[in-house]
Amino acid sequence: MKKKYSYLFFDLDNTLWDYDANSYEALKKVLEKLDIIKYVGNYSQLYSVYHSMNEQLWIQYRENKITKEEMRVGRFEMLLEANGTPMKGIGEAMNEAYLKEMPLQSKLVDGAREVLDYLQGKYCMAIITNGFIELQSGKIEESGLKKYFEKVFISESIGTQKPDSLIFEHAIQSINASEDSILMIGDSWETDVKGAMKMGIDQIFYKPTLQGEFSESKIIEFQPGMSFGSFETNTGCHFDKKSSTRIIFHLKQLIEIL
Ligand SMILES: [Mg+2]
Repeated sequence: MKKKYSYLFFDLDNTLWDYDANSYEALKKVLEKLDIIKYVGNYSQLYSVYHSMNEQLWIQYRENKITKEEMRVGRFEMLLEANGTPMKGIGEAMNEAYLKEMPLQSKLVDGAREVLDYLQGKYCMAIITNGFIELQSGKIEESGLKKYFEKVFISESIGTQKPDSLIFEHAIQSINASEDSILMIGDSWETDVKGAMKMGIDQIFYKPTLQGEFSESKIIEFQPGMSFGSFETNTGCHFDKKSSTRIIFHLKQLIEIL
């Protein structure tokens, strides 16, 4: 029997808004605009370094080990240095150009618009996203996502990030809902799944890289210690009976669940 939810909490980056594709394009445009792309060599290689570097910096920022400015400006100078093409002092200009370019990229994750069209009117939907106010708002606005969501919770404006319980508590209070009426959908095990799990909110872990390992309609009920492909679930995670975890590899599978 389907469990009835009234509220859906969506993560933004790489759950609805195609962060990987959009940031690839945005950074390329930045390098072109500043006329430095000719110095950096193979762009795809540079981007893959940026991708992993950015993830590490976000972890440090989440743990309050670096400031917003160190994160924003430092990442570009670190990147060029790691690439063997250091350009001292360019971080600020790159950051400014990047913040302008990012929200202009509007590619959504495969199936996102179709699924949101289906869900709209049936559920109260909100976005809970880790990120900076101006950037996340711009992405939501420019990509046409805004009309689907009654609330948007951005970590910078709340002052805490997923997986911290405070951001979930803030969202729950703001919609005045009970935990068991909410479903959290996100692509990050660390922030979306574990964050919601701590609150007793059911979670959908959207993991598109598993596509191909399972048949189209397979929705996996998570159990402690499961692993598949290169993914393992039991990394410091406390499973309890208060909530359920399911994994999907295509957003359209949400329609089967809901
Ligand atoms: Mg995400």
